[in-house]
Amino acid sequence: MEFCSIASGSSGNCTFTSTGQTTVLVDAGITGKRIAEGVNAQDRKMEEVDAILVTHEHIDHIRSLGVLSRKYHIPIYATGGTLRAITCCSSLGKLDFSLFHEVRPDETFCIKDLSIRPFRICHDAAEPVGYRMSSQGKSFAVATDMGCYDDYIVQNLTGLDGILLESNHDVNMLQVGPYPYPLKRRILGEKGHLSNEVAGKLLCDILHDNMKTILLGHLSKENNYEALAYATVISEIAMGDNPYKADDFPVLVASRDHPTQRFQL
Ligand SMILES: [Zn+2]
Ligand SMILES: [Zn+2]
Repeated sequence: MEFCSIASGSSGNCTFTSTGQTTVLVDAGITGKRIAEGVNAQDRKMEEVDAILVTHEHIDHIRSLGVLSRKYHIPIYATGGTLRAITCCSSLGKLDFSLFHEVRPDETFCIKDLSIRPFRICHDAAEPVGYRMSSQGKSFAVATDMGCYDDYIVQNLTGLDGILLESNHDVNMLQVGPYPYPLKRRILGEKGHLSNEVAGKLLCDILHDNMKTILLGHLSKENNYEALAYATVISEIAMGDNPYKADDFPVLVASRDHPTQRFQL
C-alpha cells in the first residue's frame, strides 16, 4: 500500500492511495488538471482511479469533483449528508448521480482489495468523515478538518501504518493574526480545525512501534508554516506521556502546492 498527498491545505486537498490493484483519491479540492498531474506523477492514469472518497462538502475538498466526474466517470463515495450538500453546490456544474455511492460512518466497505471505513469527525459540515483504508495488513488514514478529537477518533486511528493528520494552525498566530473574530472563533471551535499542539497530543495517543509515516497536512496559509507545525508536533511527542523520542518516527509536512514523495507502507 502506498500514498502521497497531491495537495494539502486550506486552499485545496487531494490524497492519493493505491494498493497496486486499487487506486483511490480522498477529496478533489484542487483543479482537475493538478489532480491529473499528481496522479500521473505516481505512474497512474486518471482512468485507473477507482473512486474519489469525499470527506465533506467544503470547496477545498470538492472543487473539481464535477469536472473529474464528467471527464473520467469516477465513482464518488461520501456520506448521505455530504452527497446532498454536494448536490446543492452549483459551482460544480452538472453531476452524474449514477456515480454517487452513499457510505455510512463505521460501516466498512470494499473497493476491490481495499477496505475502507469512514469515521465521524467534528467539523462544521453536513456529515463529515475521515477515512481509514486497509489492505494486506497495512492501513492508512486521512484525518483532517477536525475541531477536536475524542476516544472514538483515537480508536479509529489506532494501529495505523501511516496517517495524514491535520495540523492546521498555531493558536497564537491565529489569535493575533488578521482573521475577523467570528472566523477565529469558528476555527478554534469544536467544529473547526486541529491546532499544531492538539495534533501532537492526538499523535501521542496513537503512536506505536510500527507507525511508519506521519504526514502533517491541511496547514493554514495565514496562521501556520511548515517549520512551526513540525516543531510543535515534535515537541508534543517529546513531552508526551509515551515511550517515544521525537526522532523515533519520520514526521513530514505536506505541501499546499506540490505533491509529496510517495510513501510505501
Ligand atoms: Zn472543511
Ligand atoms: Zn478543509
